[in-house]
Amino acid sequence: MFDSLSEGLQSAFKSLSGKGKLTEGNMRDGLKIVEQSLLESDVSYSVVKEFMAHVTEKALGKRVLLSLRPHEELVRIVHEELVEILGPVDPSLHLNADRPTILMLCGLQGSGKTTTCGKLTQLLREQNIQPLLVAADLQRPAAIEQLKVIGEQLGVPVHAETEHKDPVKVCQNGVDRARRDGNRVVILDTAGRLAIDAELMDQLKRIDKKVGPDQVYLVVDGMTGQDAVNSAGAFNEALELDGVIMTKLDGDARGGALLSVKQVTGVPIKFIGTGERFDALEPFRPEGMAGRILQ
Ligand code: GDP
Repeated sequence: MFDSLSEGLQSAFKSLSGKGKLTEGNMRDGLKIVEQSLLESDVSYSVVKEFMAHVTEKALGKRVLLSLRPHEELVRIVHEELVEILGPVDPSLHLNADRPTILMLCGLQGSGKTTTCGKLTQLLREQNIQPLLVAADLQRPAAIEQLKVIGEQLGVPVHAETEHKDPVKVCQNGVDRARRDGNRVVILDTAGRLAIDAELMDQLKRIDKKVGPDQVYLVVDGMTGQDAVNSAGAFNEALELDGVIMTKLDGDARGGALLSVKQVTGVPIKFIGTGERFDALEPFRPEGMAGRILQ
């Protein structure tokens, strides 16, 4: 699983065989390779520094199991630490038993919010739950159309009000409609921007306050690396996030941004998007992602 890293570590540790202990001195080269690997995976510099401090503390003086070579022991420690930071696993949408569950998706424009609305809808449809989608992205006229098409494709209702200019009102009306029609879940597709701005954040805060979503999920584009981390920080400050969905991990991105986003927000990574189709949504698995980041 960690072929390239293991090779590097192997040579860094070749002088160590038989010593039995990982010490600060003989670990230095191996740790440098781990650090480099994380930076190449798009993990942010400050997160890498903090992570390496933890790993060093954990590994220092630790007895190397007789059956393992030192580089394997270090990789194991690094992997373990990554899994711990990336966890816990929580793919549940925490649906209410007695009233509609309101899921609010937010994120930058192009991050994959609207597509993710479709993916979550597909997931719910598989559980025989019919969600109501609410087109609250009034910034991008095409977004309303896009959501309507998704609703038609998946056979679920879409609440859209082209005459309304206030997304808070649209969301409130959508939730009222779901209560009337008996939809167990409401998914709010909110507006994004190409970059964070105060007006967007203000709009999202108003929706959060007035509509009271049960779960607020940040959708981040896994291809954008450092930008994903910066935007996650800003969204996390403005809203009480309950989870993160990282999209576009079907590409070349090694997913290091996920580690930074997790560190910045502290909320569970719920799902990852692995394609444009509605079935391309996977519950997040820290073990798999740790292996990918370390490759
Ligand atoms: P929004 O502006 O946040 O609503 O973003 P969209 O849902 O419109 O998505 C922007 C683009 O990213 C579209 O072309 C989607 O098909 C694409 N997209 C979304 N999620 C994924 C994903 O997981 N993988 C890939 N490859 N493309 C995705």
